[in-house]
Amino acid sequence: RKLDNVTVVVLGASGDLAKRKIYPALFSLYQEGLKPKTWTIIGYARSELSDEDLKKRVTPFMPKPDGRDRSSSNSVPPSPNSTGPKKKEEPLTLEQKLEKFFEDCHYVQGSYDEQQDYERLNKEIEKYEEGKKSNRLFYLSLPPNVFLDAANNLGEFCKTKSGGWNRIVIEKPFGRDLASFQELSEGLNKSFNSHEIYRIDHFVGKEVVQNLNVLRFANVIFDPLWHRSNIKCVQIIFKEQLGVEGRGGYFDHYGMIRDVVQNHLMQILCLVCMEPPVSLSPEDINAEKIKLLKAISKIDKEDFVIGQYRAKNISGKEYPGYLDDETVDNNSITETFAACVLKIKNRRWDGVPILMKAGKALDEKVLEVRIQFKDVPGNLYTEHKVSPNELVIRIQPDEAIYFKIMNKIPGYTDRLTESLLDFTYKDQKKSINIPEAYARLMCDVLIGNENNFISEEELSLSWKIFDPVLEQMEKLHMTPEPYAFGSRGPVEADYLAARHGVKWSETEK
Ligand code: NAP
Repeated sequence: RKLDNVTVVVLGASGDLAKRKIYPALFSLYQEGLKPKTWTIIGYARSELSDEDLKKRVTPFMPKPDGRDRSSSNSVPPSPNSTGPKKKEEPLTLEQKLEKFFEDCHYVQGSYDEQQDYERLNKEIEKYEEGKKSNRLFYLSLPPNVFLDAANNLGEFCKTKSGGWNRIVIEKPFGRDLASFQELSEGLNKSFNSHEIYRIDHFVGKEVVQNLNVLRFANVIFDPLWHRSNIKCVQIIFKEQLGVEGRGGYFDHYGMIRDVVQNHLMQILCLVCMEPPVSLSPEDINAEKIKLLKAISKIDKEDFVIGQYRAKNISGKEYPGYLDDETVDNNSITETFAACVLKIKNRRWDGVPILMKAGKALDEKVLEVRIQFKDVPGNLYTEHKVSPNELVIRIQPDEAIYFKIMNKIPGYTDRLTESLLDFTYKDQKKSINIPEAYARLMCDVLIGNENNFISEEELSLSWKIFDPVLEQMEKLHMTPEPYAFGSRGPVEADYLAARHGVKWSETEK
């Protein structure tokens, strides 16, 4: 039965995430015919905006009529009075769809800490619900300093009492350390129960990450390979080409380890390395992730390399360094690059280095997992360079899964070459529209699928892994290694890998 009567309240609707991701994700559900039968979307923030102002802010981030608009599921409904033979329905244009979408969008101005503002918000929601049994989704697109005020007020004054569900979505940062995470969790738990809280990690919503369980558990070929006896190392790599670009305020307080490694990369690590779950239920998947996180050994500052980018002139253009950014403290020692090696002490992974790397202002934009296999034992091709096999799971850009294998060069030669068994999504799935991570996750929240969200215990265990080393670094005032804008990052990351007997893979061009 199709979900009906949902109010989506976007708190912080005037902000960056709301316009760039949340409204476009909601529109995408509308476009794909996945929205509830009836819904109302209420933007809420302190800024004085009309419904029209909000629409103007959001519209530039909506799809453009350039062929990306592939949906045909929303068409002009036939007139209720029409009697004659049914005319073929004309599909709506993108502009018409946007107009229809915005008819359900409204804006309420209010503070994040005043009781009367939430009471007013509640009245506004009730107006659209018209006394029906209704469901409410609250999306906190807010800076962390107002999370708890907002959640507690929503809990007290805005939850539906109509018999429908209430759900709250929160974005990272999930605290800055274990203590602040626990404080946040305790605060949230006062107003919402664990099944009502959806901690979103948009990396988990990405198509290829969604495919990880299928790749591992629906293919028999990978099962025996996925083991310390065959795998030399696992690498999880996230590289951005941009620097902070004037948005350093938040980042400077967190740094790359807290912003990316402790949450996003650890989620990917869990999916790559956990044992097969008993079933695909959220509880069973969560149980395996927890077991894996518990098996990760304590990490030390020697297991880390941190870096910070410096200005660089590339082809006549000057790219500013991190400290040149106006929004960053001049003496900041916040890391914009982090590489680390983790160890998992269990039967499958003992002795296999798990390398993770994340950085800004690097040489390329990529998010990928690389499973490097061991060298061929008793290699017969001693005259040739035999590269070890590698399975590459590229999450972005250009989603792909490929296996690097050795092949004979065809023809009158006995030379070998490295070839790819290649599943590149855009080559193979031309007709399939890969959903944006936020749209998929929003859909999951609406249908109550908790599988792709992070549990309190997972985050708490992940903080327990990183908290001591972060504290150690802060106490020692550990300064990051400088690296040039647009480079591979500090060379010390190569030495780190070498100390564990492995080498970072290079992305194939
Ligand atoms: P933002 O633009 O800085 O803030 C969202 C809204 O919150 C603002 O429009 C502002 O609305 C209000 N606000 C800002 N600073 C405030 C303050 N000090 N006190 C009270 N209200 C304040 O944030 P965002 O980039 O949209 O991100 C929202 C949340 O998503 C944050 O938790 C962020 O960490 C997380 N996140 C963002 C991204 C992204 O790509 N932007 C990615 C991942 C996670 P009013 O002044 O109108 O009330």
